[in-house]
Amino acid sequence: MTTASPVWHPFTQHAVQPEVIPISKGEGAWLQTVDGRCIFDAISSWWVVTHGHRHPQIVQAISDQAGRLDQVIFAGFTHEPAEKLARQLVAITPPALEYVFFSDSGSTAVEVALKMALGFWRNRGEQRSRILALEGAYHGDTIGGMSVGERGVFNAPYDPLLFDVERIPFPAAGREQATLDAITNACRNAGVAALIVEPLILGAGGMLIYPPWVLAEMRRICEAHGILLIADEVMTGWGRTGTLFACEQADVTPDIACYSKGLTGGSLPLAVTLCRADIFDAHYSTDRSKTFFHSSSYTANPIACAAACANLEIWQNEPMMQRIAAVANAQANGLNRFREDRRFTNIRQIGTIAALDIATDDPGYLAGIGPRLYNEFLARRLLVRPLGNTIYLMPPYCSTPDEIDRVFDAIFEIVDGIG
Ligand SMILES: *Cc1c(COP(=O)(O)O)cnc(C)c1O
Repeated sequence: MTTASPVWHPFTQHAVQPEVIPISKGEGAWLQTVDGRCIFDAISSWWVVTHGHRHPQIVQAISDQAGRLDQVIFAGFTHEPAEKLARQLVAITPPALEYVFFSDSGSTAVEVALKMALGFWRNRGEQRSRILALEGAYHGDTIGGMSVGERGVFNAPYDPLLFDVERIPFPAAGREQATLDAITNACRNAGVAALIVEPLILGAGGMLIYPPWVLAEMRRICEAHGILLIADEVMTGWGRTGTLFACEQADVTPDIACYSKGLTGGSLPLAVTLCRADIFDAHYSTDRSKTFFHSSSYTANPIACAAACANLEIWQNEPMMQRIAAVANAQANGLNRFREDRRFTNIRQIGTIAALDIATDDPGYLAGIGPRLYNEFLARRLLVRPLGNTIYLMPPYCSTPDEIDRVFDAIFEIVDGIG
């Protein structure tokens, strides 16, 4: 048991993956290693780097803000980058989301959402604390996020700490009605506080896509039963599904929405949880016990907020929808090359997310094929991290059709090689 570095890496089994690659520079869709190799970042450095690395406007905003105000306590104090960002987020997110709570990661944005939901019911004097969640969901790695996420090898040791939730089957093609019926049935039970979903696609759960009309029906059922709907747009936000936010495609306004990953264009950690006015109002009282008791030391860090404001300007001023369409188009063309090939199944795409499964007797996240594929991609200077036997691309929007094609070429080559 020896490693050269004291660093313990995330989601990394150091015993079978002894090497980590030192990176010294990022440029557009590319990462540069310390020894000068260039690697194409086909997963946007874990789904966050939407515009490519070091977008000049974001870099400038960070530098300017760092020269003015680096950090200030956010209870009792405020600052322009947070105020401006909050105003703009309320303007561009689905209508009726009116309040913005800041935190630092997707996981904490989900914790905040769950606490808002339970606080809402408690402050209104109703006994509701049960959460409904989709099978296969991923909502982060904190205790609340794991509780509402899929249970499995990732969280088995922590199971004693996790709270019970009601599982709703994933709305797989042809089985959508069963999902909706399960939600309706669950809503009839006393004590249900909220349904949490990743809108339109389960990300870490295997890039599983479901149609907008199902999300619209989920919204309708929640409303009919007075249950809160929480949309976890941590991954789907910022153009990933082809629209700025996934909920737009179903014309749905959730009661609470979580955004993070692309919020700062992938430059700095920041997250927000937006909610409807009635959720804020339920906490608004001269009774101080109804306060929303949540904070983190760096809540609404000014530098991160300034980076997010610059991201919003990019969305306003650059042809983002054209870029996203170009990436989506290149991926659609790439995927088409696999449709007749029986070594691949479940070829699918939504917006800038393209995925396909390798037919294998050993599917699932720990499928032996996953690490092997990862290494083969790396040997070709491509950063692609399969989820078990699922290969997916989620590149930065500045990627060119040629760069994207290179990944699809590699998939063929690698699968040919492993027979
Ligand atoms: C990544 C992700 C999270 C967790 O975000 P972190 O910033 O990694 O804590 C939560 N929900 C979804 C849907 C995600 O994809």
